[in-house]
Amino acid sequence: MAVLAGKVAVVTGGSSGIGLAIARAFRDEGATVVITGRRKEALDAAVAELGEDVTAVVCDVAVPADLDALYRTVREQAGYVDVVVANAGIGIDAAFGEVTEEQVDAQFATNVKGTVFTVQGALPLLREGASVIVTGSTAATRPQRGLEVYGATKAAVHNLVRGWAHSSRRYGFRVNVLAPGMVPTPGLLDLVPAEVRAQAEEVIPLGRHGTPEEMAAAAVFLASDASSYVNGSVLAVDGGVAQV
Ligand code: NDP
Repeated sequence: MAVLAGKVAVVTGGSSGIGLAIARAFRDEGATVVITGRRKEALDAAVAELGEDVTAVVCDVAVPADLDALYRTVREQAGYVDVVVANAGIGIDAAFGEVTEEQVDAQFATNVKGTVFTVQGALPLLREGASVIVTGSTAATRPQRGLEVYGATKAAVHNLVRGWAHSSRRYGFRVNVLAPGMVPTPGLLDLVPAEVRAQAEEVIPLGRHGTPEEMAAAAVFLASDASSYVNGSVLAVDGGVAQV
């Protein structure tokens, strides 16, 4: 049975990695899917793979006016939203002692400000029972060297979700964090060198990195009515590494 049949889902950062896998899984479960990203060519490639039924909107989540335009499009095309995945995120490797203002601003603008306005912008369109999913990270509680600022942005979004859960009744939604461990995606391969990925893999209780598809399976659970009483939680999908 298609567990998301009849639902409208927005996935930010849906042109690559975890977001692309989530968009594919949502489509397979019967949802109408809208994906976003900054690069049109990456969105076009994603639509070529996912099929023309998936709508792609160029949108930089760090720019609130872009999000306004995104939700205008969604309002015109679908009229409402059942699932929002605030997934767009960036990490910048910068050694403590050498971090620049630009690097801090860029990570907070996409990961924190972008998440705030992705979720806030959706509120008027959410249908009763909507599910909001924010992609956090094990880095929120387990910061890696060189990625301390990135970890701080993820700690911030975990905290936002716990706070937003208090507004569930008012807005008729549930909101949860999907917290991946290390997942080899285009973004991660750019960010983390092979030897660091190999070292990290050794301490994972399940003995391997996760896949985008495993993150997507957890997102389907959080998006579907199977998780109807799950709210304000952090779902770690990390092979157990957050417990080490
Ligand atoms: P990718 O780099 O593979 O994908 C990131 C996606 O986000 C792309 O579609 C990218 O498109 C989009 N994006 C980036 N910045 C913006 C922006 N400002 N506005 C709109 N879209 C944007 O990364 P992952 O799939 O690995 O990461 C997805 C999420 O998962 C992120 O939030 C990341 O922090 C989180 N995460 C990833 C982990 C991993 O190991 N891979 C571990 C834990 C968390 P474009 O560049 O065209 O804008």
